[in-house]
Formats: sequence, structure tokens, C-alpha cells
Amino acid sequence: MLLDWWNRRKMLRALRKGPVTDRLWRQLRKELPLLRPLEVNEAVKLRELTTLFMEEKRFNGVQGIELDDRMKAIIASQACLMILRLGLESYSGWTEIIVYPEIFRVKRTVADESGIMHEQDSNLSGESWERGPLILSWNEVERDSLQLHKGRNVVIHEFAHKLDALNGRANGMPPLHPDMPLEKWTEALSRAYDKLQRQVEHHHACINPYAATNPAEFFAVVSEYFFTAPEILEQRCWEVYGQLRAYYRQDPLARLKEIER
Ligand SMILES: [Zn+2]
Repeated sequence: MLLDWWNRRKMLRALRKGPVTDRLWRQLRKELPLLRPLEVNEAVKLRELTTLFMEEKRFNGVQGIELDDRMKAIIASQACLMILRLGLESYSGWTEIIVYPEIFRVKRTVADESGIMHEQDSNLSGESWERGPLILSWNEVERDSLQLHKGRNVVIHEFAHKLDALNGRANGMPPLHPDMPLEKWTEALSRAYDKLQRQVEHHHACINPYAATNPAEFFAVVSEYFFTAPEILEQRCWEVYGQLRAYYRQDPLARLKEIER
């Protein structure tokens, strides 16, 4: 009780003096297509979460990029949209967000199936370490955030990996709620994943074929669809849509239909 009161006080102060000013919030609501369909109550809640998120996490711009409050809030608000009904605890266990100006290059040594080590060079737009930082490239964030690209949003993708890793390894299954039967989740997602694998073999994937890489990427990609193109996900993988709706405890498709009315 005392803690509740203390947290509430901390939050009120953060809201008053914190980085998300009225002006910035209005600007974000206009600039970010994912924030537009929110109703008033949801928007108020999202602003609270965004503010607390920005107080709790450490943003670190590298290779000469300077991050201002607007840039941080563009990342934070979309990350918090995902946990609107889950709470900030879903992002616990790590603190740092590293932002590169552009797509970044990583060099890594990986072992192949026979145990032989190879140097691998990749270009990445984002990356999420299981217990470490989350890494983003700003130009990719900007491209996906300021305009709606159906099925693609690097912020949603990388933060989905963070949610997935909350119960151990990122394996395509975040911690489910007690009212969500494990078998239903596994059945729905593995059926859709297997179907996608077959489609990819025949070159006609119904969603981004990158989702067929492994179950963790599948969860991250279907989460991108869930928030940016719920109508496509619902139409092409309705069982997956239903499971994500139960997990995220929100229904982006219903929200879109509501504003179209
Ligand atoms: Zn990924």
C-alpha cells in the first residue's frame, strides 16, 4: 500500500517534470500512425508508461548520433504500446537501448553444424540480446515509425524479442497468462509456422518469409503484423491473431474498425 502510494507519487512527478511534455505528446500522437487509433484512456495510460520507461531505461546513441527526447519517445511510446496491458515489468532485467545512426555491421564467430567456426558479417537494423541491450538503427526506426509499413516495424520486432526472452531463452513463446492454455498457443503458432515453412519452399509466403527463420523470429514478425497490419494477420493466420490478442490483451483490429465507423 505504502509502495503503491510511493510509486504513484513518483509517477505523478515524472509526468509533471518528465521528458514527455504536453507538446511532445501531441506531436507523437500526430506523427506516429500506431498511436493514432488509441482512445483517450489508452493514450493516457500509454503516456504514463512511456514516461516511466524513459526514466528507467538508458538510451545510448553511438557513432555520433545525438538522441533528443522526441527520438527517445518515438522508440519508447511504440515499445510501450506493446505492453499497454502487460505493464512495465515485462521489460525488466535489462536497461540499455543502443541506437546507431544507420544500419550497423556486426562481425561474429559462429559454429556450424559440424562444430567448425566461421566468421560471419551481417548488416542489421536491430538486435536484441537476451539479457543485454536492445540495439536499433535510427534511420530504420524513423522509416517504420513515421509511416505505416504494413507488417514491418523494427521497434515492435526487437521489443517482441525482449518479451519473448522474459521467461528464459527467446524461443517464440513469451510468458503466457494463467488463462491461456499452453497447448492452444503451441498448436496455433506451430501450425502457422509449419505452414509458412511449406509456403516459403514454394515461394509464396503469406507473410514476411523472414518469420520462417525460427520460432523466435516468427513471434517477432507476427507481432509486427499484429500492431501494424492486424487485418492481414487476422485474415491469413487467424489462430495466431487470437493467441496474440490474448497475450497482448489488446485488439488492434477492433481499434481500427472503431475509428473507421
Ligand atoms: Zn529478430
